[in-house]
This record gives sequence, C-alpha cells and structure tokens, in this order.
Amino acid sequence: MQQSDPHITLITPDAPMSAATHGGRAKCLQRLVRLDLPVPKTVALSFDAVHGLAAGDVPDMTSVLAAFSESQLLCVRPSSEDPDWGGPGAILNIGMNDMRLSELSDSIGAEAATKLYLKFIQSYSIHVARLDPDIFDDLDSGAPDAVSDFLAAYEDEAEEAFPQDLDTQLAGVLRSMARAWEGTTARLLRQAKGAPADAGLGLVIQAMALGVGRGESGSGVLQLVNSDTGLRQFTGRYLSQSQGRDALQTGAAALFLQKDDRGPSLEEKAPAAFAQLTEHAALMRRKLREEMQCEFTLENGEICILDGVRVQRSARAAVRIAVSLAEDKIIPREEAVMRIEPRALNELLHRQVDPEAERDVVGTGIGASPGAATGKIVFTAAEAQASAARGEACVLVRRETNPEDIRGMHAASAALTERGGMTSHAAVIGRGLGLPCVVGATSMRFQTRKKRIVAADGRIFKEGDVITVDGTNGQILGGEPRMLEAALDDSFQTLMDWADESRDIGVRANADTPADARTALAFQAEGIGLCRTEHMFFEADQLIAMREVIFANGPEDRSVALQALLPMQRDMFVELFELMAGRPLCIRLFDPPLHEFLPTDRSGLRDLAEALNLPLSDVTRRVEALVEYNPMLGMRGVRLGITVPEILDMQARAIFEATLDSCGENDPVVPEIMIPLVSAKREVELVKTRIDAIAAAVKTERGREFEYRLGVMVETPRAALRAEDIAPHCEFFSFGTNDLTQMTYGLSRDDAGRFMSPYVQQGVFPEDPFHTLDQEGVGELLRLGAERGRRAQPNLTLSVCGEHGGSPESIAFCREIGLDYVSCSPFRVPVARLAAAQLAI
Ligand code: PEP
Ligand code: MG
Repeated sequence: MQQSDPHITLITPDAPMSAATHGGRAKCLQRLVRLDLPVPKTVALSFDAVHGLAAGDVPDMTSVLAAFSESQLLCVRPSSEDPDWGGPGAILNIGMNDMRLSELSDSIGAEAATKLYLKFIQSYSIHVARLDPDIFDDLDSGAPDAVSDFLAAYEDEAEEAFPQDLDTQLAGVLRSMARAWEGTTARLLRQAKGAPADAGLGLVIQAMALGVGRGESGSGVLQLVNSDTGLRQFTGRYLSQSQGRDALQTGAAALFLQKDDRGPSLEEKAPAAFAQLTEHAALMRRKLREEMQCEFTLENGEICILDGVRVQRSARAAVRIAVSLAEDKIIPREEAVMRIEPRALNELLHRQVDPEAERDVVGTGIGASPGAATGKIVFTAAEAQASAARGEACVLVRRETNPEDIRGMHAASAALTERGGMTSHAAVIGRGLGLPCVVGATSMRFQTRKKRIVAADGRIFKEGDVITVDGTNGQILGGEPRMLEAALDDSFQTLMDWADESRDIGVRANADTPADARTALAFQAEGIGLCRTEHMFFEADQLIAMREVIFANGPEDRSVALQALLPMQRDMFVELFELMAGRPLCIRLFDPPLHEFLPTDRSGLRDLAEALNLPLSDVTRRVEALVEYNPMLGMRGVRLGITVPEILDMQARAIFEATLDSCGENDPVVPEIMIPLVSAKREVELVKTRIDAIAAAVKTERGREFEYRLGVMVETPRAALRAEDIAPHCEFFSFGTNDLTQMTYGLSRDDAGRFMSPYVQQGVFPEDPFHTLDQEGVGELLRLGAERGRRAQPNLTLSVCGEHGGSPESIAFCREIGLDYVSCSPFRVPVARLAAAQLAI
C-alpha cells in the first residue's frame, strides 16, 4: 500500500512520514509502534490526501481498507501538525451495522453490542450526515427495539437508509472530517492558537480496541505527573466498559489508576494490566523524551495503547518536568533550558489568578506589571498606608501616579490607573516592586473625587469594595477569585543555574532601594545596572530636606540644606554597597525635574508653607515658577546638574564617602556613576571635572584612595549620534531606551497609552515601542551609538537599562549589537537570564 500511494500509509516502524506531512498524532503513533507498544493497526492519511478529500476527491477505499481485517471496527482521529491546533472530534466504531451487531452480540453480549451501534448511528448522523441531534431525543436507548427506532429516525430525516457497508461509512467520515477542518470557524480557532492559515490536517484510521465486552474491558488515560505542579503522580482515570475519553466525563463512575484511599482503583482491579501500563508509560517518557499522556484500552485484561499526547501543563509544571527529564538524563540540560518559554516564568514569579477560577471582568487596561492581587479600593497614597497599617490589603486606584504615590504603592497590594502606558510612572514602579499593576484602564470611568470607579457595564465600585488587579493580562476583576501562589521552588533554581551556564550576555537589575537590591540578589542579578537615586528623595524625611533645597535662596543656602541630605544618601549607598558585596552598582545622578518634589494641590501647598515657615503666596509663586511646558524635555538630568550643581556635588560626595566606608582592605568597591540625559560632550566634560574634584577632595580628607567609573546614559538621540565625541570622556554607556524611545518617536511615555491600542490594532506600530524595542528606529540609534562609542573607546562597556532590558526580543537585539549586559526590573531578571541563555544555546 505504501508504495502505491505515499499519502495513505500503514504506520510501520519505517514508513516514510513526518509531523509536517501526516501530522503530530501520526508521527507519535509511529514512535509508539517503533517502541513495540501494543498499538492497534493504524493507517495515516497525509495532509495532501485530506485536502484532496475536502475538495471532493473520492478516496481509494480498497487501498485504505487493505490493512484491516474484514470484521474490524475502525475509528478516525485528526492529526494536525501541532496537536494544540486541535481538529474535528474522533469518530469511533465505524463499520457497525446490522450484521456486525449480531456477530458482536455473540462475542461481547447483546447489550454492549447494541450500545456501540446506537452510539455510532448517533455520531454518524450528527457529524457525517449533519442531521439535527434532536431527532434521537425522544427515543429510548434501553428499549428492546432501540436499534430499529434509531435507524428509522435516521432514515426519516436523511431520506435514505443508514449505510450498512464499511466503505460508504468510512468515506463519509473521512470527507466530513476533512471538510470540517477547512471551515472558517475551525480555521480562525486554530489561527488563534498560532497555526498558519494553510495548516494541514492528517487523519489516522485505527482498528478499534473496543473497551467493551467480556472480562475486564474499558478505557482510560494515564500520565505520570500532575499537570498543575509537575510532581510525580499517577494522574488519570479508568472506566470499565467504556471507550475513548469516557472515563474523563464528569459523573462517570471512573476508577483511580493507582491504589487510592478515596476509592477503587485499576491497580486493585487489574494489577497485571496496571503494571504493564505503567511500564509502557515510563518507556514512552524515556524514549519520546517527554511527559506523555497515554490513552489506553483494556480488552479482556489486555492493554492497548491508542495514543500518546504531550501532557498539558502549567508553567510551573513545565519547569519541573523539563528539569526532571534532564536530571534523569533523558534530555540534555541545554534542552531543558530551551523548553521553557521565558515569559512563562512570570507565572512562577508572582501570584496568579487560578486559570480554572471564574473571572468577573469589570474592566481592562494594559497589564503593566505581572501577577495578581486582591484588595479593598483606596484612592490616595495616604489611605493605602493607613490600610497597610491596619493589616488590610488594598488596591491603590489613581488617575495616574506621580512620585508622591510611591509610598502608597509600597503599601498597596496592587495599583490601577486610568492613564499611562508601559513606561508610565505606575508601570515602572510597579515592575520594580513586583507589584501587580494595570495602567491605561480606559474601559472604566475613574471618578476619584467621588471615590468610585465605574465599570464598562455600569457597575459601581466604591472605596472599600474588593477588586482584583490582574497585571498579567490587564484585567480588573470584581471580588476575589481563587489564586495560585508564586512557585520559586528547587526546580526553578536549578533551571536558572543551568541557564547561567550557557548565557553570554550579562544581566543586571534596576534597583533603587535596599529592598529592590535584595530582590535583585534573590534572582541572582549580577549587579545593579541602574539605581535611580531620586527615589531616595521621596522617602518622608528626604522629601522635606529636598523641598528645602528647592526653596533655598542661592547656592550657599542650598549647600546648607543639602547637608541634611548627605548622610541619608551616604547611608543608603553604604547599605547598597554592602548588600551587593563587590558586585557592580551603577548609580545614576539626579534625573527628574524639580517640580516633581512639590505638592500639586492647595492643601499640600499650605502644608509646605507651614513646614518651610513661608507665606503661602511665596510658596505658590515659587512652585509656579518651576512649572515647565514640557518637563520631560526640560530642566532635568544633566541640565540640572550643570545649572544647579550643588545636588550633584552632594551626591558625588555621598557616593565616595560610602565607597570608603564600605570597602575593606582587600575588597575594593568601585562605584559606577552615570550621568543622565546627556546630549553633548561638553556636558560630560563639565560634570566630570566637578566629580573628579570631589573625588580628589574626599581622598585627601580621608587619606585613602579609591577608583570610580564614570558613564553616560545614552537616552537622547543626539547622544547616540555623537557617541564618538562623548565616549572618550567616560568608561561606559548605558542606553536608556525609555527616554530614547520617547524622544525618537516624539511620543510621550506618559500619554502614549491613550492611543497605543488603536495604533497597534491598525498596524501603525507593530507593537507598543515602550514594550518591545523598535529595532528599526530606536535600535538603529543603539547600533550607531554602540559602534561609534566603541570606535572612539574600544573598552567602552555597553548596556541597556530601559525597560526593554527585560524583554526577550530586545535582549536578542542587544546581544547582536554587542552589548555587554542588560539591566531590568528585579522581577524580570529570571526571564532575562533564561531568554539570554536560549540565545546562546
Ligand atoms: C530610560 O530613560 O530608559 C531610563 C532607564 O530612565 P528613566 O526610566 O528613569 O527615565
Ligand atoms: Mg530616562
């Protein structure tokens, strides 16, 4: 048969077939045949053959049926290239007719034989003849003349007799399954699962293992691991006198497989068959190099293996399965590393809504920081802190967050904002804290004055009502669904260690506080690639001091006010250096515009006037004077460092004093100092001169030497273009792709959320460029900046520290253009480590 038609192939150990021509199921069955497992005889139809059937080709039944003995019943199952793409349901018991009914009544009993026939008449009527399923509703399948009633119902509706010959039945089944695959709905469904538009379908025709009849007969499924945890556990069910997946139907009186306190088991009922089955399953695992779910039938105590499919698994189970296959030397470690989709690690790193739980979706936005958390709604940072003090979980709901909300975000379990995109304030802070966060939730109305939010369906959620923020998919849910805890277990650690063995690009973390640094270390970041120092200034005591700095009358006054900040900064750096224990720490000098430290509303201004002992009008006037039309393009970063240099001086001194305070005799600390928002080399020259002078002063005062490395944050297009001028003045560049994206597109990172969805939907941008690095535009600047920088300074260390540093696609690009490391939020470090390892394997 194989020679005459390569598209209709009896599955033998060396029949020519592949998943790409005959589908995954056919290929898997061939593997099982090669393992000498008791697989019923099977014929595979190729994609081309099935395509032909759908187009009206009449199959050559003689060639198909040659493989089977005349009295055999058959079943047909789909075999798509990737089993996850699905396909039409299997049709069993093809070949049942009046004659077979009487033969089978003799061998397996009249009741069992009648049941098979009735089942087949029904499934043929519905799936092949496409009759209305209702026609059998009033018929009693237990009545003595049930068969003739069913046949009559078919004949009435189809206006022809039920086909009695196998050829006609089988041809009908094959054609209907082939056509079902070509239907528009089926195509859209599989495309949603990642199948290409022209994905093919193969079909397998298998001799039926009946599962009903005399002796212990039945069917079931078995897998050796738990799909949720990946832990070793016999999982599955067995049902006597059943076929297909009947054992898995709810309400079926199915048995456990292994002996179990909760009820009877196959192991007790048919111990020899159970032992054989577990051996077969273990062989499949070893030889197919995968955890397989095995579909089996028992016929009078004899095991048949009908099929094997890859075990469905949660992300945490996937990690455990891959690690255990490698530990058992079934697959190499590198392969275990390759088998895990990096982003899937997010499911392990954070609490998640249980995928099985019901979701009451009340709104959607951009999932800006993964994980899910439940809490009572609060509308201000102060309420969040009060709630945390009472030990109550809360969700901080704001139109958008600003630096004043950081304390509230620390106190909250999750954050939800109406505005903003992937790199808005709430998103960046949320990711840094590992706090679930949804931003840009424009499908809800935020009536923050009235202390309520209104869902798309009109439901109102007030302060104190409980909601759940799912930052993994951007949903806001009413109430508290069931959750799954984070799972940083030993297999996760093992997988990450293996990943590091292969990785060839560094991974650091963006960490602003000792708490962030601890998280970064727990995820084994190699260092800190970006410490945004301004975060420290938002701590309550530093904020007051900072406001005094802003309101100082001239440089001298300002230096005095800064004296209060110096020890606080120094202590923080000491703590960070000690935590990092010799790992690199890159400290970015003050970056934000000053007005961010000032209150925005009247009562805040009044409090400030009181604290500074100044008239309210004075305070208001000074605050207004700091307002800028475009603060993100205004007086911030190095521009502030040059025009109001006292802040920078204080920071440099704090860093150097901390350096000396934390380094031991033999373990020097070498701080990395980074200048933000540079666009011209002269800026670097000026700042460098000042910092060198402060270093010299500290060395003299303390009578001790130290080294430091100065670097430039390349986050304006001009800095990238003029990298050749800038590089000779520094030792490293770190690409700040958040601002670089903002400035390259001329696209506000805080407002882009408003139109990003329609832009992406209409294909203006392939993806949100704040989320996935725009390799063509922003990437071009990175490439140019890296090349030009290294041309002038071959030892220049290059890295990226924008949010893109944690995205697998962006890491591939960074590696390609020769960057030394990427730096991302601590919770994204494992994803980055795994993605980077996969690039190197
Ligand atoms: C950047 O601009 O890419 C960056 C890392 O800095 P920030 O997000 O603090 O502006
Ligand atoms: Mg920036």
